[in-house]
Amino acid sequence: MSSVRSSQSQHPLSADQQDFDVVIVGGGFAGLYMLHRIQQRGLRVRLYEAGSGIGGTWFWNRYPGARVDVESMEYSYSFDDALQQEWSWTERYAGQPELMRYINHCADRFNLWPNIQLSSKVTAADYNESTRDWRVVTDGGDSVRAKYCILATGFLSSGDIPKFEGLEDYQGNTYLTSRWPHEEVDFSGQRVAVIGTGSSAVQSIPHIAEQADNLVVFQRTPPFSIPARNGPLDTEFEKRVKAMYPEWRRLQREESRGGFIAVNNEPTPANDNSAIAVSEEERLADYEMRWQSGGLCYYSSYIDLLTNQQSNDTLAEFIREKTRQRVNDPEVAELLVPKGYPIMAKRLCADTNYYETYNRHNVQLVSIKDAPIEKLTANGVVVRGEEYAVDSIVFATGFDAVTGAISRINVTGSNGQDLNDYWTGAPRAYLGLLSAGFPNLFFLDGPCANGALVSPMLLSEYQVDWIDRCLEYVGFGDDACVEVQPEPEADWMQHMHDVSKGSLLYLADSWYMGANIPGKPRALLSYLGGLESYRRQCRAGEANGYEKLTVTRSAEATLASGG
Ligand code: NAP
Repeated sequence: MSSVRSSQSQHPLSADQQDFDVVIVGGGFAGLYMLHRIQQRGLRVRLYEAGSGIGGTWFWNRYPGARVDVESMEYSYSFDDALQQEWSWTERYAGQPELMRYINHCADRFNLWPNIQLSSKVTAADYNESTRDWRVVTDGGDSVRAKYCILATGFLSSGDIPKFEGLEDYQGNTYLTSRWPHEEVDFSGQRVAVIGTGSSAVQSIPHIAEQADNLVVFQRTPPFSIPARNGPLDTEFEKRVKAMYPEWRRLQREESRGGFIAVNNEPTPANDNSAIAVSEEERLADYEMRWQSGGLCYYSSYIDLLTNQQSNDTLAEFIREKTRQRVNDPEVAELLVPKGYPIMAKRLCADTNYYETYNRHNVQLVSIKDAPIEKLTANGVVVRGEEYAVDSIVFATGFDAVTGAISRINVTGSNGQDLNDYWTGAPRAYLGLLSAGFPNLFFLDGPCANGALVSPMLLSEYQVDWIDRCLEYVGFGDDACVEVQPEPEADWMQHMHDVSKGSLLYLADSWYMGANIPGKPRALLSYLGGLESYRRQCRAGEANGYEKLTVTRSAEATLASGG
């Protein structure tokens, strides 16, 4: 097993390494796979990563209980069969430390380290129209040129503590789930508050409750949460999947809608029926079968769960009833039961003993739905005039999702166009990959692709391969340039709008809509057409020499393809 590296193992750029074919920003799963592809082409490439280690979301989100909510056998690279055959996961859903071991193993295996610069946050990227390349600047003073710039900054990577009144006055310890310390945090003997009840809270609360003397959870919106049913990986299941891995991956991509193909360890294609077109008996049997399987496999249940309120209600009610059964005190249970928004309009949570934690004598739930947190004081949190004194506060308050990390880089395209200005109101990106006015700049797992509702691994591998083919086509010589014009971009945005018409996603204040961040424009940030449709559109985008893009091929690329 490889060790987890740190910035100490890295060498700063030397003076003769200021020009690259490709600069990649972000060392999570997507950025690292992109790096691998570019390295395979023998090109000059540099990957900048803000953290002192690789892993992206898994590097930062090391809170107690952090683990993936997609099955390990499905949440892993599929591009290298030897890797997927040789690697063995220990748990059905890998925990954060195991995910870090995996990603570091991959960096070793594919010899990625020489081209990774850790502890380097990219602050600006400027396009030079005359040289048709990008200048990329980091907070460490690097300033390099690259023909192509690829932003792989992650769609859940910008976490901030909300601006609670009195935040500065609080004298205890504060923790943000998405910036968890590397040293062990021990809550033994402490009074602890957790603010927020999304996926990060749902995973961490049971662990914090076991350590702390007292835990108070401040809940604004109760989530829908399904038992993950985590445990040691079933070795028979592992063998079966490995025996058919290429086919398993195909099923994930083509038959599952979002990548969740395993239900009760069986590959189970997405259900194309309407939830209300089948008998109640059949419907409940499907919901119960998925409940027993655990986790997020409801995403591949009835096709209209996110487009038909009546259908959605059937599942929401099923889960509400299950939730009630997990909590002893009926009053607490009613507070925990999610209401007022459609199920899956916020991302489902997958939990281990989340609701059962509220049956403990040392855990208190405070609903702040009707009375928000008034302020923090030196001692704790004030709600309805009552002070909850605590030694530590854990903020599990989420992310400026999808666009947050990109918006923190000053990206300037043609004619001095600022990307944040261009995206005022809502981000615009053709296939979620390129924006008009920003030649030779690509996004991985960015806005306007279907990052929100599919297994992120599937999407990013697909996008990396698409970009890799596109770069091969355009080439790397001085002239090489690829750009999307406003019209195809507008067509994609229209398509994105058309497929989302009637979606119940609009009815929740979620990160899918940018609605969790005060002041962020409310806009659908992701493509809802499903992975297979996305892949079809991307393939069409490659047809006839990328006819929807404006391409100047460099001589070597034209020669290589025979003209
Ligand atoms: P989240 O789902 O956005 O949850 C944030 C929580 O903080 C919500 O309960 C929110 O309440 C609350 N909150 C935010 N601002 C608040 C305020 N000012 N006062 C009181 N409460 C406030 O964020 P997350 O839990 O970090 O999860 C984000 C996404 O990351 C997930 O949806 C999932 O896609 C991913 N994730 C995945 C895993 C996994 O793989 N296992 C684990 C963690 C996260 P409201 O709902 O009322 O806004």
